[in-house]
Amino acid sequence: MPHQTSPHTPHLHSQVLTVSRAEREQLGGHAGRVVWLTGLSGAGKSTIANALELELHHQGKRTYILDGDNIRQGLNQDLGFSDADRAENIRRIAHVARLFVEAGVIVVVAFISPFRAERETARALFSPGDFLEIFVDVPLAVAEERDPKGLYRKARAGQLRQFTGIDSPYEPPLAPELVLATAQITPQECVQKICRLL
Ligand code: ADP
Repeated sequence: MPHQTSPHTPHLHSQVLTVSRAEREQLGGHAGRVVWLTGLSGAGKSTIANALELELHHQGKRTYILDGDNIRQGLNQDLGFSDADRAENIRRIAHVARLFVEAGVIVVVAFISPFRAERETARALFSPGDFLEIFVDVPLAVAEERDPKGLYRKARAGQLRQFTGIDSPYEPPLAPELVLATAQITPQECVQKICRLL
């Protein structure tokens, strides 16, 4: 995997782990991958992530979900929704996802991740084929109609600022590995498409 050096820690050296990724994958019986779900709030990322994890779990595969809301309550609780904080949010998540892939786990990332540049930065941490960018694609009107967490209502009422799709942009992927039009197909069909890709 590509390595980066940090300007803050110029004297650090990468420690080579004794047990390799290949050995971990051999033990688990499958490859480590990141399934990166991006899309508007209410597009269906969490729903698909949970259904996908259940299916893979039944297949005997080792999985984990990194969900936007959960991570923001813990690891990223110091971050808000400014452009800079959104970028840092994604940077941390991408690095955590990379650790999971190194551990031989299929990690499902369910984050709005609205900016193309940040998703590309995330992708750059992985070897080709390890990072599957999946666009959970739904018209804003449908997401707003679903409004599973009542957030669009709050954003329209001015109680929530910098909400993606309302007063913060969403940049759709230009070349995702897969597009799931969740207004047209069921969560189960979405899961089948992702499983075929994996
Ligand atoms: P997100 O995680 O993207 O914010 P959620 O998964 O929390 O979105 O909410 C999506 C809502 O849309 C849920 O209420 C879900 O039941 C509904 N839904 C309808 N069709 C689909 C589909 N094909 N895939 C995923 N969710 C769907």
